[in-house]
Amino acid sequence: GKGAAMVTAVAYRLTEQARHIQQTLAEFRLSKNQLLEVKKRMKVEIERGLKKDSHKDATVKMLPTFVRSTPDGTENGDFLALDLGGTNFRVLLVKIRSGKRRSVEMHNKIYAIPIEVMQGTGEELFDHIVHCISDFLDYMGMKSARLPLGFTFSFPCHQTSLDAGILVTWTKGFKATDCEGEDVVELLREAIKRKEEFELDVVAIVNDTVGTMMTCAYEEPTCEVGLIAGTGSNACYMEEMKNIEIVPGTEGRMCVNMEWGAFGDNGCLDDIRTTYDQAVDENSLNEGKQRYEKMCSGMYLGEIVRQILIDLTKRGFLFRGQISETLKTRGIFETKFLSQIESDRLALLQVRAILQQLGLDSTCDDSIIVKEVCGTVSRRAAQLCGAGMAAVVDKIRENRRLDHLDVTVGVDGTLYKLHPHFSRIFQQTVKELAPKCDVNFLLSEDGSGKGAALITAVGCRQRDASSS
Ligand code: BGC
Ligand code: MG
Repeated sequence: GKGAAMVTAVAYRLTEQARHIQQTLAEFRLSKNQLLEVKKRMKVEIERGLKKDSHKDATVKMLPTFVRSTPDGTENGDFLALDLGGTNFRVLLVKIRSGKRRSVEMHNKIYAIPIEVMQGTGEELFDHIVHCISDFLDYMGMKSARLPLGFTFSFPCHQTSLDAGILVTWTKGFKATDCEGEDVVELLREAIKRKEEFELDVVAIVNDTVGTMMTCAYEEPTCEVGLIAGTGSNACYMEEMKNIEIVPGTEGRMCVNMEWGAFGDNGCLDDIRTTYDQAVDENSLNEGKQRYEKMCSGMYLGEIVRQILIDLTKRGFLFRGQISETLKTRGIFETKFLSQIESDRLALLQVRAILQQLGLDSTCDDSIIVKEVCGTVSRRAAQLCGAGMAAVVDKIRENRRLDHLDVTVGVDGTLYKLHPHFSRIFQQTVKELAPKCDVNFLLSEDGSGKGAALITAVGCRQRDASSS
């Protein structure tokens, strides 16, 4: 009768809806061949970044870091470290002791960087940083110590030495004026002078990937790669000097900061980018830039999810077709929320509670769909990131003409550490796409701070050696 017809109609609508949703998500599900293609393209961009003739126009910049070796355990002394560009800004005191009872002791304080400082003038930003250092030195009672300082600055910098780095471009949430094209170490030194309160000896500028690699290498000498999967996405590794054509010399190795977040900025990933990725890019502070990062990193995954949810809602498949103010708000799905939503230990009712917390009124069906959207977006991120890493480890293997490579990757970042599935899918992808490499992944404990201090220690030693 009539009832049965209605049931059929509802069921039909449901399957129709499910079909549309699956069609939308299908674009995010990459095949092994597509991932192998991504790995191949990364390899091409790596070569373009390394070669003198193509370096200038290359998107994956392959920036030299002037870090020529991993730590050897003889590092010693007290150092200050700054960590700018991740989830938090921190000032640290790091005490490294060499010898039989090697140890690293750290004290640190976290400071907020208000958004109006991140996006104000360069002078305001660096004055704020120096204000925080001043507070930290007071807190530790060491205003007169004049310690050597390592500056972990997690943005692309053109380095000509360990202690000089010209900011290529801001990324992530930063956009302070008058910094791009400037030597960030000089900006810091000038701000310290303006303050007239204390003196510091800025010895090294360090990318967070490099700090992470060095920290892990301190414990595990086979560590020659660093990875950050957090707010942003990037990697570094030890490259042969002879392949780094923009640095004179052919002997030994140097760590290269890949800046792989910019992979795809020349359009080479356009065939896999979706309309949602484009919308995220258009809504960002740096349109057209960091396209791979915008598919892979914590700062943007939630934004991709939000774009998909908006679209599904507009088409009437979610939230009863009502686009709430919350859903229109940028940045609502932080990594910690995505991680909670995707946790297998959470019942759907709890997913609904999280959505409720965010201000989204969901039905049970809504929560199932939201969870699937999140899972699909984060799986693609982990796989894309894995494809990039597969290119890196295979490059190292080929550099050394080996049939088989054992290597350790030091890893840090909120996405890697907090998300319930990212690390597993990432590792699985590396294994599948680089079968000739045995890759061991080591979580770094506080890589940015410890690593900056280790590099500063090596820098001081080199300087002392060359001046005596
Ligand atoms: C920056 C890199 C950094 C990465 C992770 C990217 O946006 O360009 O320099 O290593 O984020 O923090
Ligand atoms: Mg960090």
